[in-house]
Amino acid sequence: MKTVTSVCSTERQCSSIENPPEHSAARRAASAKSQGTDMLVVMQSHATDEQVRHVCDRIESLGLKAHPIPGSIRTAIGITGNKGAVDLGFLEALAGVAECIPVSKPYKLVSREVKEEDSILRVATPLGEVAIGGCNVGMIAGPCAVESREQVFAVAEKLAAQGVRLLRAGAYKPRTSPYSFQGLGEDGLRILAEARDRFGMGIVTEAVDNESCDLVEKYADVIQIGARNMQNFSLLKRAGKATKPVLLKRGMSATLDEFLMAAEYVMAEGNYNVVLCERGVRTFSDFTRNTLDLAVVPAVKHRSHLPILVDPSHGTGKRHKVLPLSRAAVAVGADGLLIEVHDQPEKAMSDGMQSILPDEMAQLLGEIRQIATVLHRSVN
Ligand code: PEP
Ligand code: MN
Repeated sequence: MKTVTSVCSTERQCSSIENPPEHSAARRAASAKSQGTDMLVVMQSHATDEQVRHVCDRIESLGLKAHPIPGSIRTAIGITGNKGAVDLGFLEALAGVAECIPVSKPYKLVSREVKEEDSILRVATPLGEVAIGGCNVGMIAGPCAVESREQVFAVAEKLAAQGVRLLRAGAYKPRTSPYSFQGLGEDGLRILAEARDRFGMGIVTEAVDNESCDLVEKYADVIQIGARNMQNFSLLKRAGKATKPVLLKRGMSATLDEFLMAAEYVMAEGNYNVVLCERGVRTFSDFTRNTLDLAVVPAVKHRSHLPILVDPSHGTGKRHKVLPLSRAAVAVGADGLLIEVHDQPEKAMSDGMQSILPDEMAQLLGEIRQIATVLHRSVN
């Protein structure tokens, strides 16, 4: 793969975001003190780990939660749990603190106000870490559902040979009809774990409720939360306590604020390893299953430091639309793709119509690698 030395376009974009003029330091501090709520503590660039810890301890001694978010230049500490009762202006006097600023957005930890540069999701796999975001375009591919060991292995073998490092497949399937295939459950997770060992791929799979989340956390490398569960707040909180990264799909009628607030639920519990995923929203379109809202990608990048993937499989519902929308997604700045691939789509137990063949995936990868190169990014 080509070595990329120049600065990727997303980094350029994020470094060019400016603070609006009303966010002058003096105004922000005054406002923070008077509001006594929703504050962000910005540490000095040379602040020590001990100073960061001390500020966190002082925040937590007041019954609030401190979220230290390290950036490349300095650490910011988000504060959640303040219902407005506690005046936090005193934090500005602590050693190592540069300033306290109010967070103007309803979402705090996901906001660019907390972290100016792009976050990079790092997924542990048997063959080393896979990065998603920044200059890295992540590829996640595999069948909609785990149907059998043979089926998962047949697809995984081909994908691994193409260089795909993250395998997706649902062991728990949230289906519209209770009579449709619901997934193999823990047996499916065991098959995925075997595929992980055999092909060295990281596993991405969906948790549909708190019970399945316990098992998904145990077997998988990334916990997927599906569109239908984007506002399942107890599941979001459970995923926020997990030790694995979370892939959060946009609800099919969710606004951008609702999407970001759902990510905030996960981060507020202390899990900062979150990647968003646009998978299409409901519209009056009669030629696609959903309408893939690619404009949400730059919109997310403007407001949030979190990486965002695009899923053109669910976003279109049609096999022949997956390649063109994948090209567009990467061109618009998506940090990766989530693609449904099946070796016998006509026999698939779910989403066969939108699943591409392994050979089509090879073509897609070839084109995406070229598009990524133009944007000074590389495909992982
Ligand atoms: C899936 O990824 O298979 C899935 C069910 O996706 P969504 O939640 O976007 O419908
Ligand atoms: Mn599917």
